[in-house]
Amino acid sequence: MTTAPTTAPAQGTEEIQDAGHVDVLIVGAGVSGIGAAYHLRDQFPDRTFVILDAQDNRGGTWWTHRYPGVRSDSDLFTYGYRFKPWRGPSIAAGEEILAYLDEVIDEDGLAQYIRCRHRVTAASWSTADRRWTVEVSRGDTGQRLRFTTGFLWMCQGYYNHAKPYRPRWEGMDRFQGVIVHPQQWPEDLDMAGKRIVVIGSGATAATLIPAIAGKAEHVTMLQRSPSYFYAPPRTHELAVTLRALDIPVEWTHEILRRQYISQFDWLARTSREAPDELHTFLIESMRPLLPEGLDVGKHFTPRYRPWQQRIAVVPDGDLFAVLREGKASIVTDTIETFTEHGIRVSSGEEIPADVIVTATGFNLSVLGDVAFTVDGEPVDFTGRVTWRGIMINGLPNMAYVFGYFRHSWTLRVDLVSDLVGRLLVKMRDEGATMVVPTLRPQDTDMQLRPWADPENFNAGYVMRSQHILFKQGDREPWTHLLEHEQEREILPEADLDDGTLVYC
Ligand SMILES: Cc1cc2nc3c(=O)[nH]c(=O)nc-3n(C[C@H](O)[C@H](O)[C@H](O)COP(=O)(O)OP(=O)(O)OC[C@H]3O[C@@H](n4cnc5c(N)ncnc54)[C@H](O)[C@@H]3O)c2cc1C
Repeated sequence: MTTAPTTAPAQGTEEIQDAGHVDVLIVGAGVSGIGAAYHLRDQFPDRTFVILDAQDNRGGTWWTHRYPGVRSDSDLFTYGYRFKPWRGPSIAAGEEILAYLDEVIDEDGLAQYIRCRHRVTAASWSTADRRWTVEVSRGDTGQRLRFTTGFLWMCQGYYNHAKPYRPRWEGMDRFQGVIVHPQQWPEDLDMAGKRIVVIGSGATAATLIPAIAGKAEHVTMLQRSPSYFYAPPRTHELAVTLRALDIPVEWTHEILRRQYISQFDWLARTSREAPDELHTFLIESMRPLLPEGLDVGKHFTPRYRPWQQRIAVVPDGDLFAVLREGKASIVTDTIETFTEHGIRVSSGEEIPADVIVTATGFNLSVLGDVAFTVDGEPVDFTGRVTWRGIMINGLPNMAYVFGYFRHSWTLRVDLVSDLVGRLLVKMRDEGATMVVPTLRPQDTDMQLRPWADPENFNAGYVMRSQHILFKQGDREPWTHLLEHEQEREILPEADLDDGTLVYC
C-alpha cells in the first residue's frame, strides 16, 4: 500500500496551516474507516473526502498488533466486508487481514485519500459556518494543520493505540527480565529457550501462547480468573466444499456469511435465554481437548455468564494442544509480587520467567480523545446520549462507528455506512446543511443508563471507562443495541423523520 501524499510542507513551523476543505472527513484508517470510505465513494462519487490516521500506516488494530501469531477471532466471511469476498481460511492472520484491506484500498483507489501520521486533536463545530474545523498534529514533522469539513465521520476504534493498559504490580522494578505488552511488541524479541509468563486469559493470551510455545523453553499462562473458549476449525468445511465445486467467490462469501451469522445469532440468543446450557456446552466441548487430570473447574470455568465478555476463539484447539504437549501450562491465582526472576503468586508458588508478557488489555478511548466543541462550548460526553450507537445528541453532522462485540465488528461498519448514506441523501434532497440529534420534549426526562449494561457486557476495558463515556436512554433511538440480529432489521428501516434528528 502506498501512503497518500501528505499535506502542506513547511517543516518545523508552529503555525497552524490551512489544509483545505473536504465534504467528509474520516478519522481512522482501520477496518471501519476504510469501509466507511468505500461506501462513501460508492454512493457519493462526487464528494470530496480524506481519511486521517495517527499511525504511520493503515490497518488500525491490525497495524498496531503485530505480536507472534496475531489473528482474527472472528471468521473473515463476516469480519470481511459484505462487498469484498474473502478467499482464505475462516480464521485469518493479522497480515492476511492487512493484505485484504490493501486490496480494498487498491481496488477502490483509496490510497490517495489516506493521510497517515495525522492525529486529530480537536474538532470545533460552528453553526454559523455549518462546518467542523478539525485540528491535526502531524507525527512526522510536528506540523499543525487545520481542515474544515461539512461532515465528520469518526472511525477511531475503541482503544488508545499508543497507550496500552498496564496495571502496576509490586516488585515490577526489580524484575531482571523483559516485560512486554502485546500492543507494543518488540520486533527483535528473541524467545528461543526462554521461560515466558503470559499474564491474562483473554483472546490475546490464547492467540500468543500457541504461537510462541514451540520456540520458548516453556510458556505459563497466568490468569486471575478463567475465560470462555470455543474451538472451531480454522477452515469451514462448507467453504472447502463450495470452493471444490468452483462456486463463484461472491456466492461462497455470501453463503458462509449467512452460515456464520446464524451460528453467532444462536450463541448470542442462547447466552441470553439459556446461559446455563451455553455454559455447559462451552465447558464440555473444551473438556476432551484439555490435558488429562487438569482441574477444569479451577482453570477453565469462568465466573461470569457466557458472552458477558467476548468468547475467545481457539482455532483447531491450538491452545489446548500446547497444554497437552506440556509446552505450556496454566496457573490460576493472583499476583503477589514480581521477583528478580519471575512472579510470586498468592499460593506462594514462584513462576520463573525471562520474559513477562502483560496481555492485560486496553485503555478505552472516547472518540479518539479528540477535544470537541460545539459553537465554542466544550463537549462533556458524560452528559450526552447516543442516537442508535451512531450519533450523539447535540453534536451536529457527526457519526461514529462502533462494531459488535458478539458478532464481527465489520458487520456493523456496513450497516452504519448504509444509514449514514441515507442520512446524507436526505440532507441533500432537503437542502439541509445540518443534522443534529436532539431530545424531543418527551425524551427530556428519560432515564439515562450507562453506555454498557454490566449485566449484558462487562469486559474490563469498558467497565474501567464507563465514567467517561456517553450514555444510553431507556428507549429507541437513544439506545445502542449490541445485537446484530436486532440491528440488521432495525437500522435499515430506522426512521430519519421521527423528530429526534433535527435538520436545518
Ligand atoms: C488483536 C485483536 C484482534 C481482534 N480480533 C477481532 C475479531 O476477530 N473480530 C472482531 O469483531 N473484532 C476483533 N477485534 C476488535 C477490533 O478492534 C475491531 O474488529 C476493529 O479492528 C476495529 O476497527 P476500527 O477501524 O473501528 O478501529 P481500529 O482498528 O482501532 O482503528 C482505528 C484507527 O483510528 C486511528 N485514530 C484513533 N484516534 C485518532 C485520532 N484522534 N486521530 C487520528 N487517528 C486516530 C487509530 O490510530 C487507528 O489506526 C480485535 C482486536 C484486537 C486488538
